[in-house]
Order: sequence, then C-alpha cells, then structure tokens
Amino acid sequence: MQEFLYSALPTRVLFGTGTLGQLAAEASRLGIRRPILLTTSHQRQMAEDAISLLDGLSAAIFSGATMHSPVEVTEQAMKEVERVGADGIIAIGGGSTTGLGKAIALRTDLPQLVVPTTYAGSEMTPILGQTEDGHKTTIRDAKVLPETVIYDVALTLDLPVGLSAVSGMNAIAHAVEALYARDGNPIIDLMAEEGIRSLANALPLLLGNPRDSDARADALYGAWLCGICLGSVGMALHHKLCHTLGGMFDLPHAETHSVILPYAMRYNAEAAPQAAAKVARVLGTRDAAVGLQQLARNIGAPGSLRTIGMAVGTVDAAARRAVENPYPNPAPVTEDGIHRLLSDAFNGVIL
Ligand code: NAD
Repeated sequence: MQEFLYSALPTRVLFGTGTLGQLAAEASRLGIRRPILLTTSHQRQMAEDAISLLDGLSAAIFSGATMHSPVEVTEQAMKEVERVGADGIIAIGGGSTTGLGKAIALRTDLPQLVVPTTYAGSEMTPILGQTEDGHKTTIRDAKVLPETVIYDVALTLDLPVGLSAVSGMNAIAHAVEALYARDGNPIIDLMAEEGIRSLANALPLLLGNPRDSDARADALYGAWLCGICLGSVGMALHHKLCHTLGGMFDLPHAETHSVILPYAMRYNAEAAPQAAAKVARVLGTRDAAVGLQQLARNIGAPGSLRTIGMAVGTVDAAARRAVENPYPNPAPVTEDGIHRLLSDAFNGVIL
C-alpha cells in the first residue's frame, strides 16, 4: 500500500456556460459590496460587461494587469484599491490578471473572485510569482488562493487559437510534473491524467473550429484539473527551467512552457518511468516526450526557444542559472545535462 498525504484546496468552483451570470450572487456570498475589477487593457470590455451584471454594486475597473505581475503595477493597482475603498477583488482574464488579484490579496487579504479566460491554472493555486527589478520570486501563501472561481466556457470561445495552444500546453505541464512530484499522490495523479487527456483531445479540435463549445468546455475542464495539480504538489525541473528563462530573458510564459515540456519529459523519463508511462498512455503514444512534442506540433505551438525570442549565445548562462537552487527532480540535475536540454530546446530538435 502506498502511504500519502492529500491536502484539498478549499476554493468554491462554478463550472459551465453562462456562469458569469452568477457573478453578483457569488460576489454577495463573499460579502463584496465595492469590488475592484481587474483585467488587461485588451480585455477591458469583458470587465465592463461584467459590471453590468453587478447592478447595485459600485465597482471600479483597473485594466493594467501585465505578465509576471510586476510589483510597480501592483502598487498602481493598490492606489486604486485604496482610492475606491474596495472590499473585494474580481479578476477577469488570464494568469496575468489572476496574478495581479493575488498580489493585491497578499497585501490586503481581500476576498478574490476569479473568472479565468485562459488555461494557465493560476486560479487554483496558493502561489504568486511577482517580478521586481528583473527578478522573479515565488511566494506560497494561503491568502493568495482565490475564494471563488467562476469558469464560464463562453468567455473562452474567442481566446485566439495560438494562445489556446500554448496556454493548453502550459496547463499540461502542470499535470506532467505532478505525475513525478516528490510529494505526489494517487488523487492528484487521477486529476493529472484526466487533465492531460481532456486538453489533448480538445486542443486539436480548436485548431479547425475555435468556437467549438464542447472542445472549449473540455479544454477549460482539463485546465482546471491541471491547475489543481500545480496548486497541490511541488513542481520540478520543467517549471524551474521556465521560471529561469522567463526571469532572465522575459520570454513569453505559455510559449516557453510549450517549448520546454517535451525536453523536460525526455530528461526525466528514465528516472520517472511510471509517470512517463501514464503520460504516454493518455496521449496514446509509446513515448511520452515524443507524444508531447507531436501534440505541440499538431496544434501549431512554437517548437524552439529561438523562435520565441531567446537570443543566440545565451544557453550557457541559462544552464548555469538553472542549476542553481534546483527544485526536487526525479533525474539528477547536472549543468551538462541541462545544457544539452536547453540547446535542443533552443534549436527545436525533433525527438
Ligand atoms: P495572460 O494572462 O498574460 O494573457 C495573455 C493575453 O491574452 C492578454 O493580453 C489577455 O488579455 C489575453 N486574453 C486572455 N484571455 C483571453 C480571451 N479569452 N480572449 C481573448 N484574449 C484573452 O497569459 P496567461 O498565459 O494566461 O498567464 C501568464 C501569467 O500567469 C504569467 O505571469 C505566469 O507567471 C502566471 N501564472 C501563474 C501561475 C501561478 O500559479 N501563480 C500559474 C500559471 C501562470
């Protein structure tokens, strides 16, 4: 018998289509009367539409959320929180918007209601990554875990296909690493396998028909499960590499995950054979790393670090940085091994 610890995350979740209609009721359930609505400039209209659902509540919008939660942006948003006397946070958007909400919650302990519109999964985690002076730090604190999450499939129908692909691979990465996490457990394994399966089935369908609501529902459901994996167990080499590359070169978050994942899987496959077998099984392939790379290629995700903006001649420095303070990982993390992995990922070597 395998002994294990399973710690459930206490977030309340509504999942469906048209669930945004429950926004006012859910805000009221959290005692929110004067929410601050967070989003990006690109998604401001979504926040304005949401305000119309909050009749009776006086709400303010801050639409300055940006990737990697820069502390300067949080400070600007905090001024708005104080100016309007906000008593709760409503975040509508991807991981960047959710991140801003978490950064405010860390400083204020205000309740958070999150409406995710990508597959990043941040809404299911007590983790906040923030950047200051080019350095990314990660904090784990129960205060940043959102109280309520409303998944509304309708809000994802217009997520651009390219972003859907890389965001979906970002989600799959959480589940893959959960399968070989040092503190993994069979409950999280179930969610990881189902999360990968749902996304791997849905993402190729979205390529042909981005507004396929069944495929969108499967993808969002898979992303939710993968987010639980990220929030529940420790991540390993893959996430360490993505954090290092994101922090050093400001590479786009989801694209970096998408490129690195097959190579990280290949690096760990021998040391984590059960995890590799599970990934291969759900993808319907013989080899987990090959299956992940084929999926990424099939859905048009970028295949190399070079194509997503990493400069020639930077692999040495990245490999050195990535082996400093490594996360626990099934295969030993060596500078030579990581150099090879990053060189292959830089060039997009076919596995
Ligand atoms: P994002 O939130 O930056 O969104 C990318 C762009 O897509 C933005 O312009 C956004 O407005 C737009 N967009 C989002 N949803 C849309 C939709 N449905 N339709 C049209 N446009 C839409 O990207 P992301 O990949 O979701 O999030 C990345 C960020 O999340 C990074 O900062 C990363 O560090 C963080 N993250 C944190 C965790 C965590 O647990 N702390 C987990 C995953 C990601």
